[in-house]
Amino acid sequence: MKPAAFRYHAPKTTQEAVALLAEVAPNDGRVLAGGQSLVPTMAFRMARPGHLVDINGVAELARLGVENERLVIGAGVRHAAFHRPVVAGPLGQLLSFVVRHIAHYPIRTRGTFCGSLAHADPASEWCLTAVTLGAEMIGRSVKGTRVIAADQFFDGIMTTVLAEDELLIESRLPLLAADTRFGFYEFSRRAGDYAIAMALVTYRLEGGTIVEPRVGVGGAEPQPRRILEAEQALAGQAPTAHVFRAAAEAAAGAVDPMADNQASSEFRRDLVRTVTRRALERSAA
Ligand SMILES: Cc1cc2nc3c(=O)[nH]c(=O)nc-3n(C[C@H](O)[C@H](O)[C@H](O)COP(=O)(O)OP(=O)(O)OC[C@H]3O[C@@H](n4cnc5c(N)ncnc54)[C@H](O)[C@@H]3O)c2cc1C
Repeated sequence: MKPAAFRYHAPKTTQEAVALLAEVAPNDGRVLAGGQSLVPTMAFRMARPGHLVDINGVAELARLGVENERLVIGAGVRHAAFHRPVVAGPLGQLLSFVVRHIAHYPIRTRGTFCGSLAHADPASEWCLTAVTLGAEMIGRSVKGTRVIAADQFFDGIMTTVLAEDELLIESRLPLLAADTRFGFYEFSRRAGDYAIAMALVTYRLEGGTIVEPRVGVGGAEPQPRRILEAEQALAGQAPTAHVFRAAAEAAAGAVDPMADNQASSEFRRDLVRTVTRRALERSAA
């Protein structure tokens, strides 16, 4: 099937893009970024936007660099930009490890980091990364610019707090201290499929014990989130197999997993236990 008819707009500046969005959003106008989620749903006619505001020609949205101790990722930055570390230290390594789990190579050359955040699939690796690391999202509309904390940004399955005329112009990830350890693990049925459950962990060691633990779980609930119970099980402990198992058990006990045609709620809970333990084991490898 082909998409239903729509009007196409190609702004050249962010200002032009938000002005267009203000005009067309009330008539089901949508942003077109990499098109890797939007275009398939249009082809199936599950989405029939009246207007598309294509941001691919907005050069200023291609920003990718460090400012004020944060990695700034503009709305035009593709997944593939992270195939190699974009910044020295653990953050660059973490992003280049995680990106390999997103879809397949051709999709990664078009799909964007911010498009994934705006699309808010519960199983998106970037949504999990943003929530776990404490990203900031920068939304802009004709009314102004606002900063939204990652833990306030997602609002359920494929829903965010962005207004319909608001463009996510960039996301900012805090840099990680040089001694930060990280581990990521996801379970999906086939390589390139969306995760059924995944976990991302970061922490530092001080005097041989874990400090500043962050444990994020994605794919299991309607939106990714940090699991404080698992973080409490890690804080102040030595990074041993026993402690990792206790944290994984705490994560499994804390989630309220979704059930769908891929996995029952109980299977997902088991997977949360496994992916959390394996992410922690990878952090110590
Ligand atoms: C076969 C297949 C497998 C996939 N597997 C995975 C996977 O394993 N993990 C994963 O995370 N993703 C996966 N994806 C999705 C892919 O990563 C998409 O690139 C991503 O979800 C959306 O990014 P995009 O730039 O393509 O956005 P688009 O498809 O252009 O847009 C998606 C939605 O977000 C909105 N939007 C986009 N950018 C902005 C913005 N800057 N501001 C406001 N709204 C915006 C659009 O209006 C639209 O509603 C897969 C896709 C396919 C086709």
